[in-house]
Amino acid sequence: MGAVTVTLHLDGVTKDYGDATALRGIDLDVEDGEFFTLVGPSGCGKTTTLRCIAGLEAPDSGTIRFGERDVSGLPPEDRDVGVVFQHYALFPTMTVRENVAYGLQFDPPAGSVDERVDELLALVDLSGMGERMPDELSGGQRQRVALARALAPEPDVLLLDEPLSALDARLREQLRLEVKRVQRELGITTVYVTHDQSEALAVSDRLAVIHDGRVEQVGDPESVYESPATRFVAEFLGENNCLDGRASRGVGGETGGSVVTVGEREFEVAGDHAGPVTLCVRPESLDADASHNQFAARVTDVEFLGDAYRVHFDWNGRPILARLDEPLSGSVTLGFAPDDATVLER
Ligand code: ATP
Repeated sequence: MGAVTVTLHLDGVTKDYGDATALRGIDLDVEDGEFFTLVGPSGCGKTTTLRCIAGLEAPDSGTIRFGERDVSGLPPEDRDVGVVFQHYALFPTMTVRENVAYGLQFDPPAGSVDERVDELLALVDLSGMGERMPDELSGGQRQRVALARALAPEPDVLLLDEPLSALDARLREQLRLEVKRVQRELGITTVYVTHDQSEALAVSDRLAVIHDGRVEQVGDPESVYESPATRFVAEFLGENNCLDGRASRGVGGETGGSVVTVGEREFEVAGDHAGPVTLCVRPESLDADASHNQFAARVTDVEFLGDAYRVHFDWNGRPILARLDEPLSGSVTLGFAPDDATVLER
């Protein structure tokens, strides 16, 4: 088994629903065989983008290409896409085997249908379950069947719309690894939609953060997390303390970077910055033993996370969040290393 994979390109895709603008001009380039995720809050346009790629919605303007092939005007059945939705959408009166075989009806395999279905069931780790009915399966198993059915005709592109969000947390984590394994085994170009930022960080080769019908930032999970380009991305992907201040260039003491003044306090940061900025420091970058950028804040709440404590602070009326090893109380001196901060121009 091995699908022919393709690159995927969206250029200036827009979509209105009556007065509501869903997409304001989406540009994306997905590489051959890549696991690419669209992540963003509810209503930002992820599903609409995916439906435009599938051919289930027609964009108002813009083009969609699979490799060199312009598919913008093609109906879904001519696009060679496999789609898995949030809800299993299996045929309840058909067995697992019949459900998967349904994916082959318009595109019969060269050899035996039964053998191909067995191959697909093995791929999604459901060997021996072919004669079960959908209501005899767990939610996770049903989504595996839906995945096998979508992959049956060997699509060029696999589209997954929140396929795990109806499952409980532990199963979600298990199945996302499975989906990733299957995708890698086939090397199929995949677009995955989720509102869950930790899922997006965990599974993607690259991801696009979507906000209000636009692509806010594209990159691999580590670089988007480490270097958010906008305040929206800084706060949406993981948690962040974002403080508005003013930067002065070249006065960064021993670090040789810049200084950001927030209220009365000056913080040293790496890099060259000037003018109005937002200083972003991740909760895990704040430390009660830090030797740089110290400031005293008052503990307002402590949450136990199992492996750490999520400690809420008040710093001169500003809420601050830190991830710490100990449940502190009272007034605490926090600090952070200059190169752990992200500085965004405002
Ligand atoms: P969610 O995570 O909640 O599914 P999303 O990011 O996938 O959100 P979309 O479903 O793409 O968002 O919706 C984008 C915008 O378009 C929203 O404001 C939504 O209300 C609107 N919208 C989507 N589908 C329709 C429709 N059929 N008719 C009218 N408005 C729609």
